[in-house]
Amino acid sequence: MKQTYKWLPVIKKENCTGCGLCVEACTPKCLEVVDGVVVLTLPILCGSEEHCISPCNYEAIEMKWVPAPGRDYIGLWHEK
Ligand code: SF4
Ligand code: SF4
Repeated sequence: MKQTYKWLPVIKKENCTGCGLCVEACTPKCLEVVDGVVVLTLPILCGSEEHCISPCNYEAIEMKWVPAPGRDYIGLWHEK
């Protein structure tokens, strides 16, 4: 079976200050600050459109193809 990947924000914990600006920028509310660091709590709702990237002043988020189960109509996917 082919592995599916979703284009998702990956947080560099060491750079994140927990300021919450990316959380405010995320319309579907998939991000949450937990213990002072942002976490992608609802990847299934992520639209992969990168609105959370530019508000971050600490380069603490980057988009990557992340192995994810299944395939949803929300967000960008590929398989290989
Ligand atoms: S890519 Fe969009 S939907 Fe996904 S976490 Fe960032 S702002 Fe939210
Ligand atoms: S905007 Fe950047 S520093 Fe602020 S919570 Fe989000 S990832 Fe962390």
